[in-house]
Amino acid sequence: MTAITRFAPSPTGFLHIGHAASALFSAKQAGPNGRFLLRIEDIDQTRCRPEYVDAIFEDLAWLGLRWEEPVRIQSQHFRDYEKVLDRLTDAGLLYPCFCTRKDIQEEIARIGNAPHGPDGVLYPGTCRNLSASERADRVATGESYALRLDMVRALRQVASPLSWYDRKVGKQDATPEIFGDVVLARKDTPTSYHLSVTHDDHLQGINLVTRGEDLFFASHLHRLLQELLGYDVPEYHHHGLLTGPDGKRFAKRDKSKTLRSMRDEGMSAQEVIALSGYV
Ligand code: GLU
Repeated sequence: MTAITRFAPSPTGFLHIGHAASALFSAKQAGPNGRFLLRIEDIDQTRCRPEYVDAIFEDLAWLGLRWEEPVRIQSQHFRDYEKVLDRLTDAGLLYPCFCTRKDIQEEIARIGNAPHGPDGVLYPGTCRNLSASERADRVATGESYALRLDMVRALRQVASPLSWYDRKVGKQDATPEIFGDVVLARKDTPTSYHLSVTHDDHLQGINLVTRGEDLFFASHLHRLLQELLGYDVPEYHHHGLLTGPDGKRFAKRDKSKTLRSMRDEGMSAQEVIALSGYV
């Protein structure tokens, strides 16, 4: 198989050594005969900044990476994600959720016990059973809402058990129910990480999704979305994460380990590559 891989950073800060490791890993998996793509995941317009996008291009080029043009920039494709959401709405799989964080906390406190999923406590389902007329009225009055996946209905649409192949850990059975009624379009942005990443990987023909093992659980849900939308199923490789001397993984807040700070201190790209040690 000719591997088509991608590195898909969010421009919410400067890239650090962990990103370098991830990008290099992805390009290496594509190899000389495969294709390596770069995608800018900037759907969160409050946290993403254009200067960080420019810095991503600059830092990755400095590392010696090359990628195909044009680069897909998610914020330029909100209409695409809307169309995908419409398909799920038409299939009766999404519902508007008007709850604030506080509403959700209060409901959870009231019922006393709510299971946890990979993104925190599962949504208690408050808005799932609103009548069609109440939904329409609240939308008409301009109340803001998110779109949630009705997980039980979604699972009913799936004929056989779902799985994926992970190059690091082998065959995985997918259990998307761990996410409950997950948000697929946020109140503050008309899509979500899960929806846009699944759609774009399909659209761009990615056949090997490489990303850090911190996103391992997301693949359970992405596998369900692929099934609901009739998308091809890529292979995955969730790689290990680089950690600092304190055993904690690098984050964008660790300013000292950004690629540009290392460059400014006089490190060469080769030295950074050696330090990133792949993953
Ligand atoms: N944009 C995501 C991030 O920066 C990664 C997406 C992915 O590789 O699936 O964490």
